[in-house]
This record gives sequence, structure tokens and C-alpha cells, in this order.
Amino acid sequence: MSTETTAATVRLKLTEIFFSLQGESTRVGLPTVFIRLTGCPLRCVWCDTEYTSWQPQGEMMTVAEILTRLAEFPTRHVVVTGGEPLIAPGIEELCAGLHRRGYHITIETAAVLFKDVACDLASLSPKLTNSIPHRREGGRWAARHDKQRLRLDVIQEFMERSDYQLKFVIEQAEDVEEARTIVAQLRGVDPAKVLLMPQGVRHEELARRGLWLAEICKRYGYRFCPRLHIELYGNRRGV
Ligand code: SF4
Repeated sequence: MSTETTAATVRLKLTEIFFSLQGESTRVGLPTVFIRLTGCPLRCVWCDTEYTSWQPQGEMMTVAEILTRLAEFPTRHVVVTGGEPLIAPGIEELCAGLHRRGYHITIETAAVLFKDVACDLASLSPKLTNSIPHRREGGRWAARHDKQRLRLDVIQEFMERSDYQLKFVIEQAEDVEEARTIVAQLRGVDPAKVLLMPQGVRHEELARRGLWLAEICKRYGYRFCPRLHIELYGNRRGV
């Protein structure tokens, strides 16, 4: 099948495409277009995109339609996110299409499965114990989530295939130790590519946790990860 035919027939389920600044990455501040796919095998208790996980929504679009939409935005930087974008049938074709058009591709993933997709930056976000949904929906997702949330072999494979960043969502001191334990089990981690990001979607809690976390980053040589889009626009969709 030709690449044009593939692009016209392969469809993915999206919740949104939007143009903003990269908010939480080593590439923070870059004008970036976000393609948000829907569907996730995890159920983080603090998930900030529940419309892709707990209550998934979305519409089908072909790769060709997505690429046409992207051409409206004045940037070469794309983030493919979710949900968990790597579970989407058609993710290989989407990333191949982006690569052919010359975009810099960041894949935002919890790294619970490996797929050999075109990718310039693998943004790997292993989920810590603080993500387990013990108190949501009677805890019915807790065991399944906990069993699936951490795959060191998958993280290592991504790290060896492309540029990467390891992003941890931190609430409290125990989370820092858990993140350090994960980093210690991986080979060849550059501390400057380990991002500690405060958990939260309200300015006050981000500021409070951020000040504490800044000192932790100074201690271990990790990178502090802000949530720039929330600082600028608040906790809203499509920004
Ligand atoms: S992995 Fe991401 S999208 Fe999935 S439940 Fe966790 S925070 Fe939400």
C-alpha cells in the first residue's frame, strides 16, 4: 500500500489537537502542536486527562486528516500524547507520516509497552505508587493498575533507541526515593534527563510542592519540571 493510501485509510481515535507551548519537558516553552489520542490501560488516581482514561472520549480521524490539520499551525514540533498513545492502532502510521513531513516528534508515554515508532524524544513517565487508585470506584482498578504501571525493560528499550527524558510525578518524600530506586535499576541514566514534576493542577499546590522539589533537584542533579501551561492558562483543556 502506498504511503498516501495508508494515510487516507488508517484511523486513530483523538480527543483533541491543539497548539500551545510545551509545558512539561526538557523542551519547555517551545511552540508545539499536541495530538491527544484517547484510551489508556492505566487509571492514575490523579490523572489530569480523565477524558482519555477514566471516561474516554474521542473521534476517529485518518492520518491524512491529522496531517492536514497540523499544517495550520506554525511549528515543526509535535507531541503525540494521550491517554497512552502507544496502545492506539495506527500509531506507527501516524508517527511515520509526521516523520516524513519533517516534524520533531515527542512521544509522551507511561512506557508500559514498547513500539518501534518514529520518535525524536521519548518522554517516559513511569507511574509511581502514588498513582494507584485505591479510593476511586471502590478500588476496582487498583490491582490492575499496580500490576501494569512499571516496566523497566520497556523504559530501557526506549532509552537505547532515541533521545529520552524520564519524568516522575512527585507528591511527597517517599516518591523521590521511589523514583531514585527506579533510576538506579536502569543503565546509563543521565541525571539531567530525569525530570521531577510536582503533582497538582492548582497554582498554590504547584508553588508549594515546587519550592520543596527544587531543593531535591539541586541535591541530586535532576531537572525541575514546571507545569508551564497550568501556570499560564490554568487547568483547562486544549492549552
Ligand atoms: S497514564 Fe496518563 S492518561 Fe493514563 S491514567 Fe495515568 S495520567 Fe491518565
